Amino acid sequence: MDNLNKIKNAIRDVPDFPKEGILFKDITPLLNDNHLFKKTIDILAEDITMYNIDYIAGIESRGFIFASALAIHQDAIPEGASVVLVDDLLATGGTALAAVKLLEQCSAKIELVQFLIELTFLKGNSKLKAYNCNALIKY
Ligand code: AMP
Repeated sequence: MDNLNKIKNAIRDVPDFPKEGILFKDITPLLNDNHLFKKTIDILAEDITMYNIDYIAGIESRGFIFASALAIHQDAIPEGASVVLVDDLLATGGTALAAVKLLEQCSAKIELVQFLIELTFLKGNSKLKAYNCNALIKY
């Protein structure tokens, strides 16, 4: 099995959580597998090598895991810094868009918005049209 399928297999579906109608993507089994987690980070890292990055910003709470945690506050990002924003999952895109706007208020330049998982049927990427976006695994 290739790495992408191994990663996919390590993401567990939890139906009707946290409420009815939501299919929650649980990444805990992936985080529990040291080798696979490292492989995932390697692949995500490869995807950003083409950008000239000053900072990696992660969205709370699981985005932090993948972004090596950078807390965002007013003076954390110098003016004009190039930033990759990372989260575990893109659903409707509201969370990522809010984070992008916060970073832009700090005068950051968003080079890439990177996700482990994208739920394509929710069309969250339409909210992020103005930015480079990618996701490792799409449902
Ligand atoms: P959204 O703002 O709708 O794109 O939601 C994205 C945020 O909510 C991410 O930080 C995800 O961790 C979380 N999230 C939304 N939907 C799911 C889902 N089906 N499974 C796991 N996490 C989700």
